[in-house]
Amino acid sequence: MKIEKTQALALRIMPYANTSHIVLWLTEAGERLATMVKGACRPKSAFLGQYDLFAACELLYYRRDGAGMHLARECALVTPRAELRRDWRAFGGASYVSHLILGSSMEGQCDAAAYPLADIALNAFATAGARQEILFWLELQWLGHLGLAPQLRQCSRCRKPLPEAANALHWSREGIVCPGCVKRAAAPPPGAGLMPLPPDILAILRRWQEQPQAHVLTTTQCSARQFLEFERILGSLMAYHVDDNPKCRNIALQLMRATFDSKEKAR
Ligand SMILES: [Zn+2]
Repeated sequence: MKIEKTQALALRIMPYANTSHIVLWLTEAGERLATMVKGACRPKSAFLGQYDLFAACELLYYRRDGAGMHLARECALVTPRAELRRDWRAFGGASYVSHLILGSSMEGQCDAAAYPLADIALNAFATAGARQEILFWLELQWLGHLGLAPQLRQCSRCRKPLPEAANALHWSREGIVCPGCVKRAAAPPPGAGLMPLPPDILAILRRWQEQPQAHVLTTTQCSARQFLEFERILGSLMAYHVDDNPKCRNIALQLMRATFDSKEKAR
């Protein structure tokens, strides 16, 4: 067993026996790591208040390269994200970040892009609250990171650049379909349903895809209609490529929609 130190995000905390926790971390190097935190719930535990769900922490742990779980030795909060404790709808968004990252990673494997992306998304939920834009932006970025980004500048079928006046475009789960290919698809294959893609939706998707930082979200204000379009379009992509069980996504979006509706009513 050797001792190692890393910064890590606590993405899941599970009780173990009477007083311990198992914590699933995403380390700064992008490794998914499970550690046992022995005696975490004892009244005098040195771990009390030193880690929390979705917080970034400094973690010192014993690494076991053979069988058995790694063992946390010390821990200290770096970015607590206390805002998430007061905004349970934003907490729902953070839960989706965790679901997405943990669902696409394997124990012991490193994925260097995962940490910064999760960190940005968690910060955005903590500071901007339960905003659907953050979830959709994250999905686009995550798809891009997995090499599954939809092509937003060319037709997914004929590969030609899309016309400047982006009217009459359609969307299928493989990507955008130009008007010429829509005409040619007299009998589209079953399940390849084409959905109209309004120009404003395409413009926002491009901005989100091309901005690796979440600050683009602060300048995007979407309408209820646009949110429904993103939910439908990105939902079909996510179900096709990444996650065929959209329960966590649906709950997170439901919570965020309630926040949006109450803000709209207050206007
Ligand atoms: Zn085409």
